Amino acid sequence: MGGSKRQKNKDFAVPAFGALLDASPDALLVLNPDGTIRLANAAASRLFGYPRDQLVGASHRWLLSEGFRNETSQLLEHLTAQPDEPLPPREVYGLHCDGTEFAAEMAGSLIDDGGSQLLLVSLRGTGHRKDADLREALSLLTATLESTADGILVISSTGKVAGLNDQFLKMWGIPPEYMEAGSEEPAMGVVMSQVQDPAAFMARITEVTDNPAAESHDVVDLVDGRTFERYSRPQKVGHRIAGRVWSFRDVTPRREAQEQAHQAMRDLAAQAEQLRALAFQDPLTGLANRAVFNEALAVALREPRLKSVDVLLIDLDDFKEVNDILGHQAGDDMLVEVARRLRGCTPTADVVARLGGDEFVVLLTACPDVEATAACIIRCLNVPVWIEGTMLRPSLSLGLASIGKDAVVPSELLREADIAMYAAKAAGKNRFLRFHPDMMTALVQRTDMEAALQLAVARGEISVDLQPIVSPRMGRVVKFEALARWNRDGEGIPPTVFIPMAERSGLINEIGTEVMAQSLARVAPWLRADPSRSLSVNVSGVQLLAPDFDERVLRLAEVSGVAAYQLVLEVTESVFFDADCHVIRQLGSLRQAGARVALDDFGTGYSSLGRLQDLPVDIVKIDKTFVSMVRTGNERLPILSSMINMAHSLGLTVTAEGIETREQANYLIGLECDSLQGYLFSRPEPGHRFEQALLNARQALEALAFES
Ligand code: C2E
Ligand code: CA
Ligand code: CA
Repeated sequence: MGGSKRQKNKDFAVPAFGALLDASPDALLVLNPDGTIRLANAAASRLFGYPRDQLVGASHRWLLSEGFRNETSQLLEHLTAQPDEPLPPREVYGLHCDGTEFAAEMAGSLIDDGGSQLLLVSLRGTGHRKDADLREALSLLTATLESTADGILVISSTGKVAGLNDQFLKMWGIPPEYMEAGSEEPAMGVVMSQVQDPAAFMARITEVTDNPAAESHDVVDLVDGRTFERYSRPQKVGHRIAGRVWSFRDVTPRREAQEQAHQAMRDLAAQAEQLRALAFQDPLTGLANRAVFNEALAVALREPRLKSVDVLLIDLDDFKEVNDILGHQAGDDMLVEVARRLRGCTPTADVVARLGGDEFVVLLTACPDVEATAACIIRCLNVPVWIEGTMLRPSLSLGLASIGKDAVVPSELLREADIAMYAAKAAGKNRFLRFHPDMMTALVQRTDMEAALQLAVARGEISVDLQPIVSPRMGRVVKFEALARWNRDGEGIPPTVFIPMAERSGLINEIGTEVMAQSLARVAPWLRADPSRSLSVNVSGVQLLAPDFDERVLRLAEVSGVAAYQLVLEVTESVFFDADCHVIRQLGSLRQAGARVALDDFGTGYSSLGRLQDLPVDIVKIDKTFVSMVRTGNERLPILSSMINMAHSLGLTVTAEGIETREQANYLIGLECDSLQGYLFSRPEPGHRFEQALLNARQALEALAFES
């Protein structure tokens, strides 16, 4: 039909026009103002696939794809408005008579038909060019598809697999041959076996299949723990929906990272909660802490309706010994037990807090009888408790301070309770005392004394008393113990007062050296006369912490011309339980040099016979409390005999202290105690009365020998 020169439109002005049109390779249509086709050339008939007589008279709009059917009227509008400004060709889609779409370029011009304007439209199929573009686009697409981390599957409108990438097969673990088989079923089986909720998975597919234009996005959980995001959108060719694209993205690492982040947030929140609790709580005992107590006390003091506010400050007696001798675990156990009992006997307390260490405080408001409560606390806590196999009786000193109507600063009330507590300790421990202004004076005196002690050595106020120690078997004095004395402005301060004070301030180092130097100087001639004689000096744990203690002792002995083996160092058991291995090393090197170590006050505190064999000591000094048990000399005291036997079996020598009566002396002689010390033989005498002390002891020994 391409070669036909038939002219259908008889009324057209230029008869040769038809032939002219047919010469063009492009499809040409002359349109009437109402859009019907007046002329169509052979190329138009070819392009659209209709015979020319079917085209003429029909509306041209049916030759264009939906969406392009207004292109001609827009073209007409433009040409009418700006006839001198021709437009570049537009891209349109035409419709072939078989229903297929094709791409084309469209251009146009106006023809004046004697008054009415006709539109000449030319259309050039660009399918050939599109093919090349498509191929290029397709290769680009394939490259993109294969490089993407997403698994992609394209399903055609008829439900067949139209395309997929390797990643899709890899993600789902589908063998590639399944896809080549022509049926989707095996591949679908692989997919369905992996999803956690196959019903929901299928429901989404059905939903979008029923609604081809829909887009969807959901999350698919797999049985192996992975998580995929599933996207689906229609696949469009131009405006036509040709199928559906499914893409899957493995978001497992992202989900895991999110979960980890959430977990971290939860952990942080829990930690913050814990920290918050810790800020108000003593972690060991679960009691309130100092901050809570301070706040509660401040609030109570601001409250005008409260008739009374009582602060009970509690400090355990000799807690350091429990810690040192039985260990920190035992110490902790004891604190927990004390806290439990404390809470038990103060159910109406506003706050029961641990201030730190072995210090506790109870706040009571509107307590009818606070003295009764304090007494009850002392009683309840003093009940024995077993800790690490040892029976302990927690003993405590309690200071009580109260206010009636007058407002007091919280810190002042606590300070008053503290002063009362110290007074209770000084008064013999295991008791409570109510604050009294006189206690302030005592406190002032104590600080005064501490200041004076600082200057005592320099002022020559420290001196030494010497007390003989006798050997009943040899019938003579074998040893002297040096005992420190402080003469403060004519007043003798007892060592039980100033020695602990000196230990706290570290002054004991200076005082200890002074005592040793003075006593060595005094006793040296006596010592040199008989190598079996010796001098005993007391050494506190603080002194053993000084790294050069051993060297200083040996140098002092050397300067005085006294052999190291004539020195005895008296220590109490607690020095061995301070974690410091210094102490053991110091005593070791002194024993190496020949000096001996005596375990002072044996049997008191928390020491036990069983521990004796582990300690690096040569002598045991039985404390005077055991000696004082002997009254008539006829009693049976297995504790004394077993102490002495045990020590002897370990190769130690035994000294008994505090012998005041002949009965005591004879009793211990009967138990084969090696040495005796006490007022019976001689009181401790000042250095210049050294000969007198010797004389006293000799006379007492003679009297004993005469008796027996
Ligand atoms: P200690 O080492 O157990 O000394 C023995 C204490 O018992 C001395 O008390 C002594 O005077 C006393 N005493 C001796 N015989 C008898 C007696 O028959 N009956 C009674 N009731 N008591 C007797 P003192 O001199 O008051 O010393 C008390 C404590 O002070 C000493 O106990 C010792 O622990 C300490 N101390 C004394 N001087 C020094 C020192 O230079 N350095 C150190 N670190 N501590 C010292
Ligand atoms: Ca001693
Ligand atoms: Ca002693």
